[in-house]
Amino acid sequence: MNLRLHRRRRLFEGKAKVLFEGPEPGTLVQYFKDDATAFNNQKRGTITGKGVLNNRISEYLMTKLGEIGVPTHFMRRLNMREQLVRKLEIIPISVVVRNIAAGSMATRFGLAEGAVLPRSIVEFYLKDEKLGYPQVTDEHITAFAWAGAHELEEMMTLALRINDYLSGLFLGIGLKLVDFKVEFGRFWDEEGLRIVLADEISPDKCRLWDVRTNEKMDIDRFRRDLGKVEEAYQEVARRLGIMPEMGAHEDSEKKS
Ligand code: C5P
Repeated sequence: MNLRLHRRRRLFEGKAKVLFEGPEPGTLVQYFKDDATAFNNQKRGTITGKGVLNNRISEYLMTKLGEIGVPTHFMRRLNMREQLVRKLEIIPISVVVRNIAAGSMATRFGLAEGAVLPRSIVEFYLKDEKLGYPQVTDEHITAFAWAGAHELEEMMTLALRINDYLSGLFLGIGLKLVDFKVEFGRFWDEEGLRIVLADEISPDKCRLWDVRTNEKMDIDRFRRDLGKVEEAYQEVARRLGIMPEMGAHEDSEKKS
């Protein structure tokens, strides 16, 4: 099986994932690496086992979101590091939802990290690495036709629905969903155009704090050199009840 996988055409390599051509038309294989980057690539590292954990965590969360009616690109997990996803036309806008002040929002507005926001706030960023992912408004998005007004409205509705659902899910396992980033794509079916959740949902893309101690359980441990990064991801998976068995055979699935 591995030989066959190795022959798959590599379409795109991102910071933490690789996309390969899928086995059937309209599909892709999403491969999760252990690589981590921060501060727009200025800090790089490897978190052993992160790819395996994110593959499993994202599978779990996307499946749950699918069950409440959020369309997602996730089709099925193939192995420890790969999942089969639907090919979409990716919208070049990242959507961030924030519940608690942290990260760039705390810095930008001089808010104390941890301050609960008056309501959940949705932000948009242009997916352009060279420009440093600038924040944009709905005016920029529609004027430059990165997304249409209806698409934008649907992305916002879905992002808030995802926030409501995931906030409750994480609270149930003693974690606060501080903020997260999602991406969407376009998919055409019998009913016409659909806006579909893409990418991944994992501690790489969310801030998760322990409810009791406020301990960070996400990629900020890497960004801020807090140590025990892999352990934090494992703890998230353990609390979700999906801690994968980190068997030796997963190394044989690794792609260079
Ligand atoms: O850094 P900032 O506070 O703007 O991040 C907001 C959210 O977006 C955080 O959950 C962070 O982990 C996520 N994010 C991301 N990828 C980036 C930048 C931020 O997933 N390149």
